[in-house]
Amino acid sequence: MPARTLDGLKIRDEIFAELKDEIAHLTAQGVRPGLAAVLVGEIPASQLYVRSKIAACEQLGMAHWLHTPPASINTNSLLQLIRELNSNNSVDGILVQLPLPSQVDSKRILEAVDPAKDVDGFHPVNLGRLVSKRPGLVACTPAGCMEILRRYKIPIEGADAAVLGRSDIVGKPMALLLMHANATVTICHSKTRDLPETVRRADIVVAAMGKAGYVQADWIRPGATVIDVGTNKITDPMEAESLLRSFPDRLEKFRAKGHVLIGDVHPDAGRTAGALSPVPGGVGPMTITMLMSNTVKAARLRRVPAASQAGAR
Ligand code: NAP
Repeated sequence: MPARTLDGLKIRDEIFAELKDEIAHLTAQGVRPGLAAVLVGEIPASQLYVRSKIAACEQLGMAHWLHTPPASINTNSLLQLIRELNSNNSVDGILVQLPLPSQVDSKRILEAVDPAKDVDGFHPVNLGRLVSKRPGLVACTPAGCMEILRRYKIPIEGADAAVLGRSDIVGKPMALLLMHANATVTICHSKTRDLPETVRRADIVVAAMGKAGYVQADWIRPGATVIDVGTNKITDPMEAESLLRSFPDRLEKFRAKGHVLIGDVHPDAGRTAGALSPVPGGVGPMTITMLMSNTVKAARLRRVPAASQAGAR
């Protein structure tokens, strides 16, 4: 039986509908949530990401600002911009689009963002809060994976989970979130000795390695839930043919467009998994969704008096 599709677009629409209501409610109280995006230089992929984040703000009725310093900016000038955004009360979320140019000290920039406005969840204060399971802003991609699991009612408590990848922005926070939800978590990385065996034991597999189709279908325990975070753009026809052998429609599209997005899990895994997030259309839409959700949360926590917050998400 083919795996159930864990549809990120459907969940995005659900969450957007909820956020629209909350934004309207907050705006009526004089608190219109707002996101400031900082886009340094002219990297096409970054421009595309930031454009889609601004479009999501517009769709939801949130305030937004776009700052586009030149690629030649230095650390001090960028720190000055971050300080201005920190002290602007209308700005609830600050998004610094990565990567920054090599002359800029990225860590100093990210650490200069007020943790209360750190809607990417990258600040050490928010990471520390996550470690100790205290409320804070959580990195968007792993938070989105958790929403997928929760909204599809995948049992997490007591489950064996394998997280493939240990980056600060995906793997590590993902493992912590699963552990806090009472899964038993194994964190895998490039030095893990027997990855297939670890994956075979898992009820939940989260793949975030950046390696197209690496996780083979026969590694997946029948019925397991697979969350595929990987987004790998394939342009090599031989690689596309080999990965998409069983998917003639997708192969046809690849031939027409010259590229295709493939996750870290082999597309054939849909035959063994019980539930699978597709690439594209799974985790991808959830990342922007959680950025919007974090911005609304940041507005609520920073600007709405505690007494009026009872009952809010
Ligand atoms: P990253 O910083 O490059 O980290 C990759 C991780 O995978 C590392 O921990 C690495 O181990 C591990 N790894 C690499 N090869 C491995 C192997 N053969 N076996 C086991 N582990 C291996 O990547 P990232 O930023 O976490 O992103 C991971 C993937 O998710 C990428 O495809 C990225 O494009 C995608 N992504 C998607 C979204 C989205 O919105 N859909 C958001 C963020 C990221 P070591 O630590 O030992 O090097």
